[in-house]
Amino acid sequence: MTTAFLDDIRATLTQIQKDGLFKRERLITTPQSTRVQVGGREVINLCANNYLGLANHPALIDAATKAMTEHGFGMASVRFICGTQDLHRALEARLAQYLGMEDSILFAACFDANGALFEPLLGPDDAVISDALNHASIIDGIRLCKARRYRYANSDMDDLEAQLRAARADGARHVMIATDGVFSMDGYLARLPEIRALADQYEALVMVDDCHATGFMGPQGRGTPAHLGVRADILTGTLGKALGGALGGYIAGPQPVIDLLRQRARPYLFSNALPPSIVAAGLAALDIVEAADDLRAQLFDNAAYWRAGLAAAGFDLLPGEHPIIPVMLHDAHRAQAMAARLFDLGIYVSPFFFPVVPKGQARIRTQMNAALTRADLDQALGAFRQAGQETGVLT
Ligand SMILES: *Cc1c(COP(=O)(O)O)cnc(C)c1O
Repeated sequence: MTTAFLDDIRATLTQIQKDGLFKRERLITTPQSTRVQVGGREVINLCANNYLGLANHPALIDAATKAMTEHGFGMASVRFICGTQDLHRALEARLAQYLGMEDSILFAACFDANGALFEPLLGPDDAVISDALNHASIIDGIRLCKARRYRYANSDMDDLEAQLRAARADGARHVMIATDGVFSMDGYLARLPEIRALADQYEALVMVDDCHATGFMGPQGRGTPAHLGVRADILTGTLGKALGGALGGYIAGPQPVIDLLRQRARPYLFSNALPPSIVAAGLAALDIVEAADDLRAQLFDNAAYWRAGLAAAGFDLLPGEHPIIPVMLHDAHRAQAMAARLFDLGIYVSPFFFPVVPKGQARIRTQMNAALTRADLDQALGAFRQAGQETGVLT
């Protein structure tokens, strides 16, 4: 390795630090939960995607332990060589049934599912139309496919229609609209009823990445399309958020789509099968989630209480109904100062700033969880008020 190469890498790191954009990881020494230990201190965690509190649920741990004993630790194979156990097919069938789709296919993560989706399904004669705020994995997945690419401003339905027209005018054979179900920086839901109507008008398919909704939005937690009463043609999602929080992703859709992905999707063909423990815990998570109206009610109750408390304190919030509740600080330094002060006060939150969100829109993204108690939320509200006053956010 040349010195020049490492010097260039170091210069990039220095620049990231100078720009105030360097991310440091805190070391948590306890299981993921509403309260975690960091550096020997207990803090309330308001930044996990642990919406239903299942990340350390005993039923998931039992299922994983049992599967490890009965089905072993690792598969040492991709799925199509010798990596498919009965458990894998059981979870794929169960996910499909839960989501109201014909079949599903598992991946190591939803990042891989989105990376896998577009290239086998769309060719150079096709078009994919993507929301500008879509998750990085959708953007990367689209980059890997040969379809013509169109982009519309976030949730701008006039722009979506203009792009649909453009794709049709350019002679596209098949057109696919790709959107997050929930945009994770804002907690805004995709405008799926309008997207569906436009898709039907222009004979396009609708693909929804529902990572921040599956398990808790809509009836039985079936996600954003179910919540809004709309049908998606293809869904992608994760086991890494509400459905247990470990890892694993999937694509659910019509049988021929899933069948072709099994033949052609590169992250499926060239990457290891999920381990039995994770797959069994996914099945256990679905059993819990399908019946978890109580947890969902608690989650949205917590979200309403938290949102009302922050608003009463005078914080600038983005409107919405989702348990992602962003507190707008606008300035990156202020967001960092506020998060640091909150940590001193026992509240674990994460500041988001450029390039994760646009310049001038720095924020602290808080996330609610069904396991948070009123006492947790009251303590956190007190800390937010104090930190807000001390950092000059509240006047
Ligand atoms: C979290 C997330 C992903 C990635 O999911 P993993 O399973 O962690 O790879 C993909 N898309 C969206 C919208 C997400 O929020």
